[in-house]
Amino acid sequence: MSSHRKRTVLVAGGSGFIGSHLCDRFLKEGYRILCLDNLQTGRTDNTAHLVNEPDFQFIQADIAEPIRINQKIDYVLNFASPASPVDFDPLSIEIMRAGAWGTYHLLELALRQNAVFMQASTSEVYGDPLVSPQPESYWGNVNPIGRRSVYDEAKRYAEALTMAFRRKYGIETRILRIFNTYGPRMRPDDGRAIPNFINQALKGDDITIHGDGSQTRSLCYVDDEVEGVYRLLMSNETEPVNIGNPDTEVTILKLAETIVRIAGSKSRLTFIENPHSDDPKRRCPDIARARKLLGWEPRVSLQEGLRHTVDYFSKLMRSTTEKPN
Ligand code: UDP
Repeated sequence: MSSHRKRTVLVAGGSGFIGSHLCDRFLKEGYRILCLDNLQTGRTDNTAHLVNEPDFQFIQADIAEPIRINQKIDYVLNFASPASPVDFDPLSIEIMRAGAWGTYHLLELALRQNAVFMQASTSEVYGDPLVSPQPESYWGNVNPIGRRSVYDEAKRYAEALTMAFRRKYGIETRILRIFNTYGPRMRPDDGRAIPNFINQALKGDDITIHGDGSQTRSLCYVDDEVEGVYRLLMSNETEPVNIGNPDTEVTILKLAETIVRIAGSKSRLTFIENPHSDDPKRRCPDIARARKLLGWEPRVSLQEGLRHTVDYFSKLMRSTTEKPN
């Protein structure tokens, strides 16, 4: 092997929101990228700016099917899964296939290739948590048969499978628990609070708050999340690590008001019945481990991150309304 061979990162879900930002970051760090996506919720638009990069290759494939790759891979990152609550009903089986079979196939690939494997897990493994903030040692409060369970349990299974491969075969693994992350390249029709509120605010439509809006989320800007992913991958840490922003815990009501203000909108807030069962009432990461092990902490304030995100969606809206028929 040439000592100058560029190391290759396979990003499963590389056309998705976080995955596409990872493609950018690893290219910038001098890696080759194999971006794998079945484009069910991922979008080629997210990586359109990379198609002419010599070190970027896109492969349309579904990780739930066996994966054959005839080139050397050094890192396998599993960021492939529909992840928005609006996907939990229509894509229930697809989510479970991605979490179960998809993770299995990627772990097998990492084993064959002697590659480092990273599982993108989620704060959803904590369910509707009974402790806040949530440390990695908290085992969670998950309804195993509820509507959210397709995602929560698939991700819990994927963590268990990752640990089993490490214990049984000694492969190098990382488990990252992602808390709510936002920023450019979220799907406009993603159904999540931030894209919904921003698009409603930009159009002057009513802002749809589920329930009384007292439920909280802690919101991490995507650049901070990606920095956490990068540092965790390059570390030796095999136990799960939370990556999220505890300083931004905010009620959904306050989030809506903030977005309306930043967008300079006249939209009014409306309160509708929460369509999501088992909706977590509080979510806030304990990031003591990330701070200590990775020297990582988020830097982007909610105001700044939301400003970038509002700019992104308003440009996107202009470009789609200006497109000729
Ligand atoms: N939510 C809301 N209005 C919307 C979309 C979401 O009030 O138009 C609420 C949702 O019920 C939840 C919170 O915002 O309590 C965060 O939901 P999101 O879909 O962003 O992600 P989650 O953190 O639940 O995965």
